[in-house]
Amino acid sequence: MDSILRRNARYHFDYGRQSRPASQPGGATSRFGRSVEIAVIDFHTHSAASDGALSAGDLLNRAAREGVGRVAITDHDTIAGYLSVCQSVPSGLELISGVELSCQWGRVGIHIVGLGFDPASTAMVRHLKGLDKARQDRAEKIAHKLDRSGMPGSLSGAMAVADGAQIGRPHFARWMVLAGHVDSEEIAFKRFLGRGKPGDISLLWPALDATVATITAAGGLAVLAHPLEYKMTATRLRALMDAFRDAGGVALEVINGRPKPGDTDTLWRLVRERDLRVSVGSDFHRDSPYGAGLGVDVSAIPEGTGVWEHL
Ligand code: AMP
Ligand code: MN
Ligand code: MN
Ligand code: MN
Repeated sequence: MDSILRRNARYHFDYGRQSRPASQPGGATSRFGRSVEIAVIDFHTHSAASDGALSAGDLLNRAAREGVGRVAITDHDTIAGYLSVCQSVPSGLELISGVELSCQWGRVGIHIVGLGFDPASTAMVRHLKGLDKARQDRAEKIAHKLDRSGMPGSLSGAMAVADGAQIGRPHFARWMVLAGHVDSEEIAFKRFLGRGKPGDISLLWPALDATVATITAAGGLAVLAHPLEYKMTATRLRALMDAFRDAGGVALEVINGRPKPGDTDTLWRLVRERDLRVSVGSDFHRDSPYGAGLGVDVSAIPEGTGVWEHL
């Protein structure tokens, strides 16, 4: 229990340790000398309305209990979780609207986090309706592929697992385990659902620029989620940055879950090069030995860089 808790601990970003120029003195307090009102933020979390384990209400209660000051529920292609709790936020916690939108840049699937938008905006409502249909269509295609790989009945199976949530590959993975086709969800992804595998259906999401434009039209800020997860060359990644910024994107997610050593430095370099802002989030789905706990301590992030200063 104790070791799970420790491994599932909140990620603490130490900007000083990562990037402080050699001449700057160290210290426990921010070298930027501001009083930090809200030091723990989480702008990337999932509820059971997509592929998270906790109901949106349980997620908020847990965030409040664990001292998170501001949170966004960023479910994949749905705001149903957010809408179910936005009128009943625990005291001491601030909830902002959020979503993690699936989109396409060329042939690559990209995730854009939208923050602080008007959930009733026609542009957003229409966009989400299109994504509901895209996910339903994709689920049918995945089921067809799994059928051909000797796993019939996966559509109804995955839909039963999803239980009304926005359907995604994790629901298929869970069903594959329950139906005895694979020993773990990890193996389901490795063999059937992951990048380049039969159940990885590409070329169906809306374009990146239309996605960023929707968030902006709805009055929100667009954040490029986990930029290093797309496994691009440095050149491609810079081209993605340019496309994202040209479309109106404002921030890169410099902390997603538990970054690997060096990742945060790489992302800060990109942020500075492109004059972008930063966002942070745990990408919490469930308690897991590899994932991060809720909340990111942002007290060491330089003033003027956080997307939270604009929300
Ligand atoms: P989808 O949005 O339907 O394309 O599903 C992508 C989601 O699957 C991600 O947001 C992760 O939560 C989850 N996922 C991706 N890769 C893996 C993996 N290798 N093992 C388990 N879950 C994964
Ligand atoms: Mn997910
Ligand atoms: Mn993602
Ligand atoms: Mn996510």
